[in-house]
Amino acid sequence: MLDLAIIGGGPAGLTAGLYATRGGLNNVTMFEMGMPGGQITGSSEIENYPGQAEVVTGMELMENWPAQAMKFGLKHEMNQVTNVTKEGDIFTITTGDGKTQEAKSVLLATGSVPRRAGFKGEDEFFGKGISTCATCDGFFYKNKEVALIGGGDSALEEAVYLSKICSKVYLVHRRDTYRAAPSTIEHMKACENIEEVTNVTVEEVIGDNTGVTGLIVKSKESDETRQLDVPGVFVFVGRDVLNDPLKQEDGSFLCDVNEQGEVIVDLKMKTSVPGLYAAGDVRIDAAKQVVCAAGDGATAAVNIIEYIG
Ligand code: NAP
Repeated sequence: MLDLAIIGGGPAGLTAGLYATRGGLNNVTMFEMGMPGGQITGSSEIENYPGQAEVVTGMELMENWPAQAMKFGLKHEMNQVTNVTKEGDIFTITTGDGKTQEAKSVLLATGSVPRRAGFKGEDEFFGKGISTCATCDGFFYKNKEVALIGGGDSALEEAVYLSKICSKVYLVHRRDTYRAAPSTIEHMKACENIEEVTNVTVEEVIGDNTGVTGLIVKSKESDETRQLDVPGVFVFVGRDVLNDPLKQEDGSFLCDVNEQGEVIVDLKMKTSVPGLYAAGDVRIDAAKQVVCAAGDGATAAVNIIEYIG
């Protein structure tokens, strides 16, 4: 029986694993279907992780986290957790291969996935010219023009990153003000090859059997349409939390979640179910920062150690 099952191997899960094992829990397994590191490994530039004064990629930032946690006994199982149930005091973790394991406590640290924007052609051309990862796919558009949709921190940061690889970046946003931090807006505005296409709706991504050939946008002011002839479109319109493992057979969730599906926790990262904790972007009111996810993971682990007793 596991003392603790951690679901997700991003900053929250890895930090919880480090604190839980170093804090004395013996059987702690972190379930992560890919390489540990989490969604941040897809970010091109991190300049706000405290103590990390040099700008680094997400991959570089996370490089040493798994080894540090595993030094104290954290085990990594490369498997997807499909379901968590609870009977009495014991949780049952079901994985993608159909196997089950029992655990005294569970931490959900699954984070989130990129949201689809919902325009015509998005599903058809996803992976064939439409991408949600600039560091993964930016290189395919070296010295070419691309379009990027969104107006938050992710969109503007990745627009700046792509502007260094691509000949031009059309930054397509539905309003004329951005959600991103002022310093990120400043960086974006300083890039001469970023053209802001604001106050528009995305009508359609068009293409042929070779992939994307263009993006059609419509001005909200004049209703005029404009075609941007680009072979690549990047979409950064927010993220949806990954709460699937909590879904029960009858369609309910194992613990309380809000309307967006975010897990409701208290300041100890405790959910409405004793022994079940949530940390990082999957929880309510997450600041969606690596440092906050790591802090959540540490907070959860400290309280789980107390819960296990
Ligand atoms: P976000 O802040 O929610 O921004 C999403 C953007 O996409 C918004 O500008 C939104 O427009 C637009 N949008 C949403 N749905 C759309 C649709 N269907 N069609 C077209 N546009 C759409 O998401 P994010 O940039 O992924 O950031 C998520 C969180 O992570 C935020 O809290 C952010 O601060 C944080 N983050 C921080 C950093 C950092 O600190 N370095 C880096 C990345 C992310 P409206 O503005 O009109 O709503």
